[in-house]
Amino acid sequence: MPTCQSCDDEVDELVSVKADGRRIKVCEDCAERIAEEAEIAEMSESAMQDMMGYKGRR
Ligand SMILES: [Zn+2]
Repeated sequence: MPTCQSCDDEVDELVSVKADGRRIKVCEDCAERIAEEAEIAEMSESAMQDMMGYKGRR
């Protein structure tokens, strides 16, 4: 059985996700969580750029 690289659980199927710029294979639960976390990180990053008056993408 394949093992999730995030929670170390043995699962039937692994999903490949991108985390911290590298690909890891995780279970579906972790894939969902990691995708959510990545989205939140992206949002807070752009919020931070707004706060600092970042206008590089105009
Ligand atoms: Zn997992």
